[in-house]
Amino acid sequence: MKGLEEIAERFREICRENVPASELTTYKTGGKAALTACPRDSGEAFDLFRAIRETGVKFFILGAGSNVLISDRGFDGVIVLTSNLNGIRVCDNEISCESGALWDKVCETACENSLAGLEKTSYIPGTAGGAVRMNAGAFGIETFDFLKDFTALNLETLKTETVKKNEVRYGYRFVEGIEKYFILSASFTLIKSSKDQIRRERETIIAARKEKQPLEYPSAGSVFKRPKGDFASRLIDVCGLKGLRIGGAMISQKHAGFVINYDKASAFDIYALIQRVKKEVFEKTGVKLEEEQIFLGEFQ
Ligand SMILES: Cc1cc2nc3c(=O)[nH]c(=O)nc-3n(C[C@H](O)[C@H](O)[C@H](O)COP(=O)(O)OP(=O)(O)OC[C@H]3O[C@@H](n4cnc5c(N)ncnc54)[C@H](O)[C@@H]3O)c2cc1C
Repeated sequence: MKGLEEIAERFREICRENVPASELTTYKTGGKAALTACPRDSGEAFDLFRAIRETGVKFFILGAGSNVLISDRGFDGVIVLTSNLNGIRVCDNEISCESGALWDKVCETACENSLAGLEKTSYIPGTAGGAVRMNAGAFGIETFDFLKDFTALNLETLKTETVKKNEVRYGYRFVEGIEKYFILSASFTLIKSSKDQIRRERETIIAARKEKQPLEYPSAGSVFKRPKGDFASRLIDVCGLKGLRIGGAMISQKHAGFVINYDKASAFDIYALIQRVKKEVFEKTGVKLEEEQIFLGEFQ
């Protein structure tokens, strides 16, 4: 494909061809990405997205791939990775990070600097960019609770914008209009507090996550959003679906909200199991579960 070849040639220092999805997502399965590109700074990101626009190739932005399932047929465009943009800076009670910084590293840095606020979101896999995009959260705290602003390349105008928290509508795993941005960095306003207290809270949260989640298997966390007034995992459990398998994919015995790559699952196995769960939960309880996870490529 001409456009992809042009991009691969022009950005060869930061591009890889035919990259297996198993290297890109935490489900550790799926087909190949025709091309990945990993810009080293905001200027290179700008040049890359301008070239993407000029060539008309398909693109997808990926952080740590901890909320994405890539089809076994792969993705015939360019996947833009953020792992080279990973700086974290602390100034007074503010922490600023580039989008590819690992979220838990941001939480740890906040703790080391005696800054409270993020500790309940400790150990959520993924990057700061992914956390902002998803408004990721845990134990009653969401990314946007302490967000001050984010700086992003607007992919419609190709201009850099700093978007303040109060300029966007956001909610549970939802940020309005966020799809048009390549997030470059984000800043959080935190609260000066006792380092020991923050560390203890972090340790408690990390221990609880290790105890409740099947972290020994590849997954992308909870598949479904929380339905109003209930938990997807409870509904899946009462429907008797724990341990259900399609191919190598399984509903975790430990946490029914997780589909795990139990034994060399294909992306189709995982996708089929998710659809089966949705159908059975709807038939048995009348609740329509909605996926939190993102599916990239063809699954039909
Ligand atoms: C074991 C496990 C536990 C989990 N627990 C939780 C939890 O407690 N709470 C929770 O909310 N989530 C949880 N998740 C899901 C996931 O970790 C979060 O959604 C996380 O924030 C995704 O970050 P990421 O960098 O991996 O994003 P990716 O999965 O790479 O991408 C997710 C979305 O964000 C977009 N994106 C990523 N980076 C950028 C960027 N720089 N600019 C624009 N768009 C971008 C992608 O295009 C995609 O649409 C869990 C996942 C796993 C595997």
